[in-house]
Amino acid sequence: MIHKNKRTEVEWWDLHPRLRLILSDADLWCYLRGAEFTITGLVRNDLEQWALWKQGISAEKSVHQVWSGWGCGADARSLKTVELNQQLLDHINARYTYDLGRKDLKTVIRHMGTADHLHFQVRPGS
Ligand SMILES: [Zn+2]
Repeated sequence: MIHKNKRTEVEWWDLHPRLRLILSDADLWCYLRGAEFTITGLVRNDLEQWALWKQGISAEKSVHQVWSGWGCGADARSLKTVELNQQLLDHINARYTYDLGRKDLKTVIRHMGTADHLHFQVRPGS
């Protein structure tokens, strides 16, 4: 697992243990396929989240903020091919359910657009 910077390396320990397990699983999955798994963003403080709200990007409290002491969201660099990304998503989403009551919400999704990345999440309070 590669950390984009010192900040994500430090924030790793603020992540919900279940999220750390999921990211470690993704990292191993990538390693076995010769792919690099790079963490690019973990915890957002209130000021950073406020900046996104002002841009109209998000209206709700984010999983990237701290919930009951844990960060519940993580961003990672997309893998090199469409197929690899999809296989990783299928692997993780088949093993880890985000919310038993809301099956439409996934543990990992690919965010496209200006900042293509993989977004991992665990349900706050789980
Ligand atoms: Zn994210």
